[in-house]
Amino acid sequence: MWKLTSSFLDPDVLPVEESLHTLANGYLGIRGCFEEGYPHQYTSIRGTYINGFYDLVEAKYSEKQFGFPEVQEKMPNLMDAQTIEIYLDGERVSLFNGSYGNYIRTLYFDKGYSERSFEYQTQKGENAFIRFRRMVSFQVRELFLIEVEIKYEGQILVKSYVKGEMSNYTDDFDPRVGEYAKLLDWKSSSLIDNVYMVMTARTRNTDFEVGCVVYHRCSKEALMGIEGVHEPKMVAIYSTKGSIALTKYCAYSDGRHNQEPVMYRGLDIIKEHSAMCFDEHLEMQRIYLKDFWHHSDIKIYGNELIQQGVRFSLFQLLQSVGKDGLTNIAAKGLTGEGYEGHYFWDTEIYILPVFQLSQPKIAEKLLIYRHSTLEHARKEARVLGHKRGVKYPWRTITGRECSTFFPAGTAQYHINGDIAYGFIQHYLQHGDLEFICRYGAEVIFETARLWLEIGHFYEGKFMIHNVTGPDEYTCIVNNNYYTNVIARYNLEWAVKFYRLLKQKNPQALDEIILKIQLVESEIDEMVKAYQNMYLPYDEVLKIYKQDDAFLEKAQWDFEGTPESKYPLLLHYHPLTIYRYQVIKQADTVLAHFLLEDFTEEVSIKNAFDYYEKVTTHDSSLSSCIYGIMASRCGYYEKAYDYFLETVRLDLDNTHGNTKDGLHVANLGGTALSVVFGFAGYRIKNESITLSPWCPKTWNGYEFMLQYRGRQLQVKVSDSVKIELLEGEKLQLKVYGQQYELDKVLRIPLEGLKRDGQSSNI
Ligand code: BGC
Repeated sequence: MWKLTSSFLDPDVLPVEESLHTLANGYLGIRGCFEEGYPHQYTSIRGTYINGFYDLVEAKYSEKQFGFPEVQEKMPNLMDAQTIEIYLDGERVSLFNGSYGNYIRTLYFDKGYSERSFEYQTQKGENAFIRFRRMVSFQVRELFLIEVEIKYEGQILVKSYVKGEMSNYTDDFDPRVGEYAKLLDWKSSSLIDNVYMVMTARTRNTDFEVGCVVYHRCSKEALMGIEGVHEPKMVAIYSTKGSIALTKYCAYSDGRHNQEPVMYRGLDIIKEHSAMCFDEHLEMQRIYLKDFWHHSDIKIYGNELIQQGVRFSLFQLLQSVGKDGLTNIAAKGLTGEGYEGHYFWDTEIYILPVFQLSQPKIAEKLLIYRHSTLEHARKEARVLGHKRGVKYPWRTITGRECSTFFPAGTAQYHINGDIAYGFIQHYLQHGDLEFICRYGAEVIFETARLWLEIGHFYEGKFMIHNVTGPDEYTCIVNNNYYTNVIARYNLEWAVKFYRLLKQKNPQALDEIILKIQLVESEIDEMVKAYQNMYLPYDEVLKIYKQDDAFLEKAQWDFEGTPESKYPLLLHYHPLTIYRYQVIKQADTVLAHFLLEDFTEEVSIKNAFDYYEKVTTHDSSLSSCIYGIMASRCGYYEKAYDYFLETVRLDLDNTHGNTKDGLHVANLGGTALSVVFGFAGYRIKNESITLSPWCPKTWNGYEFMLQYRGRQLQVKVSDSVKIELLEGEKLQLKVYGQQYELDKVLRIPLEGLKRDGQSSNI
């Protein structure tokens, strides 16, 4: 299934649908709001955003301590060009007042546009047909188009707006949503050559300019006039008798991405691209997406709803991901304002691997972004008292730390290891040492250095104290297993790359060494640190401890906690939560997924069994990981249940806050669940491995992947078929057995325990 359709208008889910039906291209994002608006009593978050565009506000604290971030970056809601009002014989069209039929709205994943149509009956009993189509172009990143077609015999009046007085959505009861309404001020509205509506605005503190240029093409001579010059609301008015089709071309541009004044940039874009009609733009969109899907589709056979969820996830990831090296992918992408447009570790651990598999160029841009923010990370490390190395921010847009709650923010030092992990995995997947020389090595050396700064030796073991792991319900702890193991990986690879570059590209290595003043003795320190990294282990339970003290804490009363008290973070003081063995999201279990080779088999399973019981999955970053690891442990029923939770999380709004934007890490987790979960894919130092099983109700699944210059296709049904579509033959492992892949490999399906499964999976 290539689309998301809704044929029922429920006012309560409108803001959720706005997120789901977002159109974006990695630069510009427009929430799926109704052009004609809604009555005031209904919640709507009418949002238009540019990735990486931000304002700065003063960080608020009542007791500010040394080194806390002074300012925070926030993504403003831009001027609105979505609004188009329609009047039929003087009556304003509104689905909430008038009568309508055959209402349907659809988002097309393969064609990259959305459509909403309905038959409308005026109070006088006259019939009309109205259809809106809209797209945000993948080919011209500034461009947003709306086409409205109205079939009606009487008098039609259309008012198409650009509104400059926008504000951001706030929610006093949810810390995950911003608290600043006003980040942008309208500056000017003008009309150029009598047809181009130009509006500009400026961010309050960063003083960045943003512009929106609008041009209309109408099927008839119907323009009555354009009003609102020099006002924050401009409107083009069209009036005619009989049917009409209007295309609205909107170009958004911003002063952070462009040197040129936004007005000229917008005008150039519009002049160049408004000669093409909506359908011609759609054709370009289709061509772009054909290529994307050719490489990145994950096909599910025998379950349409799952197929829809998987493709929805991939499509939304593509829509939200920054592709220019200056921007990244926000926790809510360009679909909403939750987490204020900030980038987190979500990128490297949940999203990057998806692009790494099949869109390495996009993956590289995400990594290049991290490299480009090294200077900020360097400064932050000094603020935190570290003499060398870098400390990446927990949440940011440009690279500045924007977290004001350090226990569950800045203290998550693991983000350094996560970013290094992203570079290392990219290298293992694509074998591009040149990329490591240009971008990866500096990041990996600098992040590795920081472990030397925050760790220390105690009784011969390297320990890392006072950090927070991924689980935000357990903060500021000693020796968080996840942190220590990812630090170890980071350190080990810093040493490996140092040695590799010394051999293969000593000149590049010398340049980096000179730039960051790295000395040989630091490499020795790194070796000593990783070889002696302390990994807390419980000999009785035979599991790695989440941290030194975790297993000593009291048990949380899960039985006595009603459903209404979840997520716990909205109902309990953090200190209450910190005192118990209660976990927000996969932590040690995630470490076992990312770095399984550091762990004995028995501990992986034991950890799953133990930590699952105390995990609330209050974070949307959790169920996908538990699902992947359930597959790994052979818990097929559970794996499938977790997958169902993952794949439908936003489509069914199971976390209740999809209105604030899609849970983008979970969208990545959906794709990872198939590839790393069901197919058991792993990238090893020398090659790749697979260990597939297939859910019983499916007929199979299929995906493509790129590996060191090769294109592979993996099909899992009654057998495992791996085809080498391009590139040299390859040694790989399936179910632990070594094979040579020359053209096609067919291996009987082993992991499928059909008989052991209940009939509904
Ligand atoms: C999670 C973090 C995550 C953030 C943004 C939080 O709820 O606990 O791990 O990075 O959301 O998605």
